[in-house]
Amino acid sequence: MSENSQSPGNGPSPDGPGGPRLRGALDGMPVYKPGKRAPAGEEGAAQAPVAYKLSSNENPYPPLPGVLETVTSAAGAFNRYPDMACSGLLAELSARFGVPEEHLATGTGSVGVAQQLLQATAEPGDEVIYAWRSFEAYPIITQISGATSVRVPLTEGEEHDLDAMAEAITERTRLIFVCNPNNPTGVAIPRADLERFLDRVPCDVLVVLDEAYREFVRDENVADGIDLYRDRPNVCVLRTFSKAYGLAGLRVGFAVAHEPVAAALRKTAVPFGVSQLAQEAAIASMRSEGELLERVEALVGERTRVSRELAEQGWTVPRSEANFVWLRLGERTDEFAAACEAAGTVVRPFPGEGVRVTVGESEANDIFLQTAAAFRKTLD
Ligand SMILES: *Cc1c(COP(=O)(O)O)cnc(C)c1O
Repeated sequence: MSENSQSPGNGPSPDGPGGPRLRGALDGMPVYKPGKRAPAGEEGAAQAPVAYKLSSNENPYPPLPGVLETVTSAAGAFNRYPDMACSGLLAELSARFGVPEEHLATGTGSVGVAQQLLQATAEPGDEVIYAWRSFEAYPIITQISGATSVRVPLTEGEEHDLDAMAEAITERTRLIFVCNPNNPTGVAIPRADLERFLDRVPCDVLVVLDEAYREFVRDENVADGIDLYRDRPNVCVLRTFSKAYGLAGLRVGFAVAHEPVAAALRKTAVPFGVSQLAQEAAIASMRSEGELLERVEALVGERTRVSRELAEQGWTVPRSEANFVWLRLGERTDEFAAACEAAGTVVRPFPGEGVRVTVGESEANDIFLQTAAAFRKTLD
């Protein structure tokens, strides 16, 4: 064999020896699994039953007409590069959240920003701590950085085990993800617990509060990360326009952090990554926040209904502060997901663990609840 076959990351290549050397860090990397799609367009509509996609925590409402109009007119200029600094969006965010523009950074979705954070903090030999199970992007982007994942199991109650996470910190720890509320379990962290944890983290370790579902939180005992970051230079808050604001397909998210961290995020950003369409849609969405938040309120109402009915059916449902619910099904996970699909809803199975079900339009939730009721009877 040629000498390059000996270095990690150079397994047999379909092009034989002499192929490009790829980084060993990419070997055996978990692949991001997008939620399964509902049958598309005409073809799907012609099939019965209609499939509802409850697998990606998307907003089921179509774009607001005003936001759609803004995007459509911005599309007339897509021969031009976008505003690289996202200046209009930063000004809007700064006013909306009462933070200086220097404390803001944008990216292609908050996953994009999370990847920028890793590029800014972690390299081979470093450690990144997060709860598990949590957001499936964390292991992927950590592995790409070359750093080592340190996963701390959730408690029996599907909560972050913050004491164990604090104890897992070593001198190699560079970044800690705290997903609040947690994807896929929906459970949020009480303010006092989070503050106690933050007080235990050394000031040279970055804590990333991933608040992708913040707008769905109704428990007043859950802190807003933007209050917590203000006097904590090692805290960074991630937010997204993908969920509550319904812009998942346009890819725009942002971070709030003190200047050195925000500046590092600007250095690690893909130049021109956030399209002009996304920037203008995000601005228009913030200006239509009243209407959007009414939709969020309706989804929160559906979450309450779905959770209550599941509990009445006999399921143990952790209290969700997000736009999804979690059912721990263990070995029956795939079977449950298949039953949902046969009935016309696509959910998100984590084989051997459980199913995450996005709260969707009420027709979709009704179908899901019927499936859950029938399945529940087979468990006793
Ligand atoms: C959906 C989600 C995101 C946001 O992803 P985008 O890249 O902004 O679309 C971030 N974190 C968590 C935990 C999520 O569930």
